[in-house]
Amino acid sequence: MFNEIILPKKWDAESDLVIIGAGTAGLCAAIEARKAGAKVMVLEQTPTPNGSLSVCAGNINFAGSPFQKAQGIEDSPDNYYEDGLEGCKGDPVMWRKFVDNHLDTYEMIVGLGYEPLEVWILPGHKIARAHYFVGGGPQLLKLLEKGATENGADIKFKHRAVHLYVDTPNKRVVGVKAESGGKTFNFKANKAVIISSGGFGNNPKMVSEFRGEEYARRCLPTMKGHTGEGIKMAMSIGVATSHIGTAAMPSIPMDAVTKIPDAITLHHTLCGSIFVNMQGKRYVNECLQIFPYLGEASFAQEGEFVFTIYDSVIREMIHLIDWKIFKEYQDDTIEGLAMQLGIEPDNLVEGIKEYNDDIEKNGYDTKFGKKLLLGPHKVPPVKVEKPPFYGIKLMECFTSYKGGLKTNPESQAIDYNGNIVPGLYVAGECQGGLFSEGSYLCGTMICYSMTFGRIAGINAAAEKP
Ligand SMILES: Cc1cc2nc3c(=O)[nH]c(=O)nc-3n(C[C@H](O)[C@H](O)[C@H](O)COP(=O)(O)OP(=O)(O)OC[C@H]3O[C@@H](n4cnc5c(N)ncnc54)[C@H](O)[C@@H]3O)c2cc1C
Repeated sequence: MFNEIILPKKWDAESDLVIIGAGTAGLCAAIEARKAGAKVMVLEQTPTPNGSLSVCAGNINFAGSPFQKAQGIEDSPDNYYEDGLEGCKGDPVMWRKFVDNHLDTYEMIVGLGYEPLEVWILPGHKIARAHYFVGGGPQLLKLLEKGATENGADIKFKHRAVHLYVDTPNKRVVGVKAESGGKTFNFKANKAVIISSGGFGNNPKMVSEFRGEEYARRCLPTMKGHTGEGIKMAMSIGVATSHIGTAAMPSIPMDAVTKIPDAITLHHTLCGSIFVNMQGKRYVNECLQIFPYLGEASFAQEGEFVFTIYDSVIREMIHLIDWKIFKEYQDDTIEGLAMQLGIEPDNLVEGIKEYNDDIEKNGYDTKFGKKLLLGPHKVPPVKVEKPPFYGIKLMECFTSYKGGLKTNPESQAIDYNGNIVPGLYVAGECQGGLFSEGSYLCGTMICYSMTFGRIAGINAAAEKP
């Protein structure tokens, strides 16, 4: 490990576990650790739970769930493992651990009262396994907080962790320094510390350093509180990283006018809208793997914006979204819509005619090979022809960062020499492992964060004080 760290003379409070971040992973860790009988303190920098779940519609992959079975969908953890490795190209051992444990996560959240609503097929998956739940991410966050509190976790809001304490002779992480209301507190962790503080997407300096200046400049971060502090704290004591930055890629573009975090246009796209650039030209198969193709293809277009365009029939097909968070432009003609959006009108009219003729003649889009829509509709693409026509102005965004700190499958932090860092666990978006360079399977992050949060909580609770 790096710097020698001076331990405080006096601790302000102690607990078996100190968890940094009351989000997706941290709250799941807290629930499991409490069930295992450990005393749990959670430090959260914001006044209420406020991580990524609070802004996310939340499609969550579960493979082989009772909900899929009830709908006659045959699926299994092994299927997800295959799609996951193909789609994310991460560490097979981490993927195995994840899929083998993810259905327990399903049971846990359904046990907390989370109700499945629909199951969709998303790009990159061979089977419909993206579960949508009543109330989406915000409702899940509420239930996780309730679960953690009712099980007896002590959540300390407005407490920002700033530093890890290491007992240098024993090379063990033994506590956390935190700041609250202008004061400093030292919290002792008798068994372990869990870092579950999210990624670094809201820290332009880290994005620039790990992913590149262009991404930091052009992609709007939509994830809350992801300042990378937990990652920096761990790196400063010698924890290694796994594909940090290189695994991150832009998500499906988001509304550039409202800039509301969850105003990403996944559902428009899966249900038949088309993407065009400022020159009015289509540039991609809209139902291709979102990460990296759709995100990177949008990022590569000339001009400030890209656009999603659809007609009144497609609008009816777009499902499970909150229209209020989008600024839709509308017109009875495609030229009129193009003028409102600032797109080259002749090209847009010509391009849409070409798209419609192609579908009429061949039954699908032969230009980019879009054969089927996804989401709730497994039908061939439909023409963009029935007024009124609609469009949304889009910009690139990040919804999560994929690489992070290195752990083993038990969620134990690993140092630069490949050794376990005693007393330190990592879970959630700050944890690498499932992802490598430039690829991701949509709908994995929430399940991954919850599942490794649970694993970290169970293992940390079993440590000897
Ligand atoms: C708009 C949007 C849409 C998304 N859609 C999906 C989707 O449909 N499906 C999917 O699988 N994934 C989706 N994601 C990604 C997914 O939500 C996240 O990757 C996942 O929830 C991250 O969990 P986490 O526990 O790592 O972080 P979070 O749940 O964000 O929790 C981290 C917490 O740590 C706190 N924290 C940070 N630093 C400190 C500190 N120093 N001290 C104390 N507390 C700290 C933060 O305030 C935060 O509360 C989406 C993300 C966004 C932003």
